[in-house]
Amino acid sequence: MSTIIRASAPAKVNLVFEVGQLAANGYHPVNSLFLALDLREELTLVKGEPGTGISIYVHGDSIPEAHINAVPTDHSNLVHKTAVLFAKKLGKATPDLQIDIHKRIPVAGGMAGGSADAAAMLVAMNEFMAQEHGTERLSINELAQIGAELGSDVPFCIYGGMALGTGRGEIITPLEDLSFQTNWLLCASNKGLSTPTVFATFDELGSGTAFTDLKDISAVSSAEELGSRMANDLEQAAFSLMPSLSEQVAQLEELGAIRAMVSGSGPTIAALFESEAKAREVSKVLISQGVVALTSKGGAQGSRLDG
Ligand code: ATP
Repeated sequence: MSTIIRASAPAKVNLVFEVGQLAANGYHPVNSLFLALDLREELTLVKGEPGTGISIYVHGDSIPEAHINAVPTDHSNLVHKTAVLFAKKLGKATPDLQIDIHKRIPVAGGMAGGSADAAAMLVAMNEFMAQEHGTERLSINELAQIGAELGSDVPFCIYGGMALGTGRGEIITPLEDLSFQTNWLLCASNKGLSTPTVFATFDELGSGTAFTDLKDISAVSSAEELGSRMANDLEQAAFSLMPSLSEQVAQLEELGAIRAMVSGSGPTIAALFESEAKAREVSKVLISQGVVALTSKGGAQGSRLDG
């Protein structure tokens, strides 16, 4: 029987995203507070016929078709890059693989969709190579180290939960989970925003703030208090590139969100609600207006193997 491995990884929102001045290495230092959501990418990896290389199939019905079509299926897909890098790290040839990606995270939406795929692929490859080639399984920290080479958000998608991200966002300090459940409504846009373009606009606007100490955030005791701490230094840049976003934020708060904010580099908007019922009620209103609105809970597990 052919080897089949299933793995998944969560989306993220940045509850706080503080961005510093562009550094000489070409990156912006960030001070980020990540929260994993129970919106998961699911990956299935099947051993391919010898000599067939890597083939990637992407599907999903909860996000617009345009999002699915925007995901490359060639060597530029992050999952393909992950397979090549992981095998290289083990000193092995890249295996022949058929990879199925079930996408639930809006693409180019500032929610780490590609990074979640890479994080799921790392745990899947770890298992595949152990089963097929007898390699030793790497630890979560070792997987996160390889993940950092693939993208700044990959390590967080491996750890999940709630964490601080410093450096480029790839240096992860796990925090204790919040003491209450957070309920989110995510509004995706039909068009994506390129992360480098948002950062370039941020540079033009000069809208960065000083970094603050975020470690005490686990101690907040209500969604109201959490909402008052949410902040995103990239929000003004996203608004200036896509002015409709600021109207959408205002609309969500009028409809009862405790706080609505652009997620990371956008254009997805993450809105925090007091209850799951309220988030669902507002999602129905928005869906009837043609908006892609997804409800989700905060505090999900990082990448893992699924049975
Ligand atoms: P982040 O929040 O980490 O900045 P994002 O969620 O805004 O990222 P992604 O969904 O990761 O953005 O997609 C960014 C671009 O990466 C896409 O436009 C697509 O061309 C490319 N890409 C490569 N591999 C993938 C993948 N597996 N899933 C989604 N996009 C991918």
